[in-house]
Order: sequence, then C-alpha cells, then structure tokens
Amino acid sequence: MTKLGFGFLRLPLLDKKDEHSVDYAVLNFMVDKFIEKGGRYFDTAFTYLGGASEEAIRLSLSERYPREKFILADKLPSWLIRNKDDCGKIFEKQLSLCGVDFFDVYMLHWLNETNYITAETFGEFEFIEKLKSEGKVLKTGFSFHDSPELLEKILIKHPEIDCVQLQINYLDWESPAFRARECYEVAEKFGKEIIVMEPVKGGTLLNLPPEAKEVFSEKFSFSEASAAIRFAESLPSVTTVLSGMNSPEQIDENAEEFSPLSETEFSELMEIAKIIRSKTAVPCTGCSYCTGNCPLQIPIPRYFEVYNEYCRNPGEDWKIEHAYSNLTRSFSRPSDCLRCRICEQNCPQKISIVETLQKVSRTFGY
Ligand code: SF4
Ligand code: SF4
Repeated sequence: MTKLGFGFLRLPLLDKKDEHSVDYAVLNFMVDKFIEKGGRYFDTAFTYLGGASEEAIRLSLSERYPREKFILADKLPSWLIRNKDDCGKIFEKQLSLCGVDFFDVYMLHWLNETNYITAETFGEFEFIEKLKSEGKVLKTGFSFHDSPELLEKILIKHPEIDCVQLQINYLDWESPAFRARECYEVAEKFGKEIIVMEPVKGGTLLNLPPEAKEVFSEKFSFSEASAAIRFAESLPSVTTVLSGMNSPEQIDENAEEFSPLSETEFSELMEIAKIIRSKTAVPCTGCSYCTGNCPLQIPIPRYFEVYNEYCRNPGEDWKIEHAYSNLTRSFSRPSDCLRCRICEQNCPQKISIVETLQKVSRTFGY
C-alpha cells in the first residue's frame, strides 16, 4: 500500500448541490475497497462537507469496522473558538459525531496569521496537549496555510506538536505564492511527521491544460493522478498523502504500489508545473472555505471553475457559456458581489476573489 490517506473533504453525493446528500452505497464500497487495499488513515474535520463529514465517518467507517482497523484524524476549527469552553464542547461533539472515543491524530485546523492568534488567545495548543495526556488523542498537530516563517515561529514555540499537515503538490512546490518546498523543509528540520493535503490541487493536476498534457504524455507512461500522488509520496518526511477521492476508480488509481519518482521525473514535473502556471487563470482548489459567510451565497469556486475551463478551452465557448448561464439562473451572479471581502479572509490560496469575480463577470458579459 502507498502512503495514501482517505480524505473526507469531498465525497460522492446523490445531489451535487446538497453536501449532506452523501451517497452511502458508493462511499461504503469505497471505504471497503480502501481498507482491502491496506489503507488505514482517514481524515475529517468539523467543517468539511458543510458539517456532514464526521457523520459520514461514523456511518461508513466506525460503525462498520473495529476501531483498531483504522487511524482517524480530526481537527478543531480554531477560527470558531470564542472562549476556552468551546474547545471542550466541540471536541466532545466530534467524538460523538464520529462514533469513536479517541482520535489517533487531532489537529488545530487551518493555522494562518489570524487563526494562530486565536489559537494562542484561547489556549488551543494547551487544550490538545491535555487531550493527549488523557489518552483521548494519540498525536497532536495542526494544518497550515501560510508562510514558512510563521511555520518556523509556531514550531519553535510548540515543540510538543507531533505532526504538521501541509498543502504540497508539484504545482505549488516552487510557487512563489505557496512556497510549498520551503514549508516542507521547515517541518522536516523540526523532525515533524508531514501529512500532505491537496496533492492534486483540488483536481487541477488531473485536468491539465492541453499544452501541459502534451508534454506530460511524452514524458510519462503513468496517469496524471499517479504522478501527483507519487510526487508527494516520494518526499521522505511525508508519512501520509491525503486524497479526497469521490469514486471507486480513484481509489484503484491512487492506491497503486508506491515507487518513488526518479530525479529526472521530478525535474520533468517541475517543467510541467511551469506550463500549468502559465495557463491556469485562477488557482482555486474548490475547497469552498470562502462561501460559508458570503451574504449572497455566491458559489465562488463554481464560477472560478467555469472561468478556468473557459480560459483552458477557448474553442468551446458555447458549452462553457451555457454552464455559466445555468449557474446565474440558480445563484447570485459575480456582478452582484458586494465587495465586502469577507470571503477573502478565508481563502487558503490567497486569491483576490473580488477582482477575480469582476473579471469573470466581464468575460461573460453579465
Ligand atoms: S466580497 Fe462578494 S463574494 Fe466575497 S463575501 Fe462579499 S459579497 Fe460574497
Ligand atoms: S476561492 Fe479560495 S477559498 Fe474559495 S474555493 Fe477557491 S481556493 Fe477555496
């Protein structure tokens, strides 16, 4: 088995518009297949899938398998904490939603400059350490979306932390905006276990622009998904690579036997990354962290997806315009945006959402 972990951020749904409509027939089949192939690590969070992810862990995993069969990681939503009591209340609720009495890994979710201040203010590091001393949590950590400088500052202040979850993929590795390599090197220097999130960058690395696809096919005999997963798995301090799989085929593809990339393959992926960067208009991963507090509930990632598709396939305008028009009939339009910028505070990719929505609106003419 690879270092693959099963992320419960994106799951098969019966109705794509309803995050709570988890398709349990498909999900249970996927969980069984993953475990059959030797997979053990499952990852969830309080806020994934609009709050439905932890329940999905209980219904598809903890009520169907003995506890020793799986490793479960969950996360405390640091930005939702308003006082010290909130930590305990949320933790107890998480145990109950997941149907377990301990977590193998428990993290502070999504630390950046702002959430780190909240975490220190309300003693969240001390809280998770206490859970570890009580045996309710076996390992502690945090997921991180910020600079290597902040990562180093946190790891100096909190040497007790066991693991760090980082956004690492071959597109972000040398990206000046995400600095994935530098973050990896900091975590490695402090001897932390590294768990990788977004190895396929929300699907971007599964749907390459034609110019990148052409080079990829010349250089590699394996699939785009395998290349992305193998890139992350090849990093020596990485213990787990989370993949948000939503079909059984993705499990088959992602759980192939692991063989590290050669140096040549690594360099070729860096060249392909440069081509992708030059062709991807908006580096949105579709995580939906931006949509929860939008007063107009604008489906930001869906508009960005349509816009990226438009930029990638200029000959297919009519199909893409149809998709855009469908969206505007069901939801507020990009041109309705109030420019309050609430959404931008939550974007791990640091996208200028307001300006990008304006660009999308100008492109489609309304
Ligand atoms: S800036 Fe626009 S998209 Fe963002 S939260 Fe405000 S209204 Fe919604
Ligand atoms: S705009 Fe940012 S927060 Fe919103 S879905 Fe895309 S990457 Fe996530």
